[in-house]
Amino acid sequence: ANLFLHYGDLLDGAGLRRIIAETNPDEIYHLGAQSHVKVSFEQPSYTANTDAVGTLRLLEALRDQCNGTGKSVRFYNAGSSEMFGMSTPPQNEATPFYPRSPYAVSKVAAHWYAVNYREAYGLFIANGILFNHESPRRGETFLTRKVTRAVGRIAMGLQDKLYLGNLDAKRDWGYAGDYVKAMWLMLQQDEPDDYVIATGESHSVREFVEAAFGEAGLDWRKYVETDPRYIRPTEVDHLEGDASRARSKLGWAPEVTFAEL
Ligand code: GDP
Repeated sequence: ANLFLHYGDLLDGAGLRRIIAETNPDEIYHLGAQSHVKVSFEQPSYTANTDAVGTLRLLEALRDQCNGTGKSVRFYNAGSSEMFGMSTPPQNEATPFYPRSPYAVSKVAAHWYAVNYREAYGLFIANGILFNHESPRRGETFLTRKVTRAVGRIAMGLQDKLYLGNLDAKRDWGYAGDYVKAMWLMLQQDEPDDYVIATGESHSVREFVEAAFGEAGLDWRKYVETDPRYIRPTEVDHLEGDASRARSKLGWAPEVTFAEL
């Protein structure tokens, strides 16, 4: 019993404040969000309330906790490579944001709230700008798990087709375990800062699909169809991160390659 769960909701500021007061944490990793880009076009206000204002609620609770206890609680804020949107790759901490979805707009707002609270109140807040990071625990409606799950089902004869959206988009896909180490490292530094976390290598959705079907000895072209339902009204064409700052300041480097992923 070293892990204790508490009910909370980013829409419930009083509840967040109570959890923080009761647990008196040393570090907070704020990963909560409505994080699906396509869903954010269907539920934009909910996404803003959770991802942007939800972050503000948590920062307000953090500010009061630090004031009340005199303790410097370290706070990690999960930004997103989606904030770069249409900005030309490779993207680093100096690249302007150009968000292309309600999700990304909300994440940009949360990022600037976090910067403002760091500067205004001297709080230890680090912003991670993580590029796509994947693992077996990724939600099944995100590309990587949607594809790998379908490959397994097709190989077992349980499914005939896989319907996808835009195959031309390029993403910088890394392994979530590597990226979580980077989050932790950010909170172990003397000073808080903002960091891009990425592999520096990008691949198209098509390449990902080809590799995943290839693992099972299948030709993806026989199984994959496109369905406009999965096309986003505004797409992010090409994300490729430059994690030089994380390399030099955190000594961080990804360990799992695209092919291994
Ligand atoms: P995102 O990069 O945060 O939006 O992560 P996703 O895993 O949801 O999407 C990665 C890329 O795959 C995006 O460019 C999507 O447009 C593209 N994509 C193509 N077909 C699909 C699909 O059927 N589902 C999802 N989730 N993404 C798709």
